[in-house]
Amino acid sequence: MCIFCKIVNGEIPSKKVYEDNDVIAILDISQATKGHTLVIPKKHYANILEIEDSEYIKVMKVLKNVTSKINDAYKPKGFNILNNCGEVAGQTVMHYHVHIIPRYDTNDIKLEFTDHSDKYDLTEIMHDLTI
Ligand code: 5GP
Ligand code: ZN
Repeated sequence: MCIFCKIVNGEIPSKKVYEDNDVIAILDISQATKGHTLVIPKKHYANILEIEDSEYIKVMKVLKNVTSKINDAYKPKGFNILNNCGEVAGQTVMHYHVHIIPRYDTNDIKLEFTDHSDKYDLTEIMHDLTI
């Protein structure tokens, strides 16, 4: 059983800030910034490609409410809300979860996007990806 399933089952302790029948929100043990929280569906899905729409919607609702609570409590200047999907993207726990990382300073975590648009044909990509 994965570590988050064990947390959901109560086999491993956690600092829970929200729980309902389908979703929990717990403090991330690493606290990248103060209030760093994980929103986790109780059912095990490896990632966003696997999670059912009904469960995904429930996670998103809790995500919004917990973000509001952190905002009221700690008044950060902003948030990064992110999901690492796959090992290459930094996913270490293969049970879908979303990070809420309150931001107090531009340097408190590192997240860098470099402009590589000169290497790609945006029209071609648009055609490839249009749903
Ligand atoms: P990922 O790297 O998969 O996106 O995020 C996994 C997160 O889970 C990490 O930020 C890590 O600190 C957190 N984490 C790993 N093990 C535990 C644990 O036992 N308890 C809690 N609360 N967080 C954990
Ligand atoms: Zn799991």
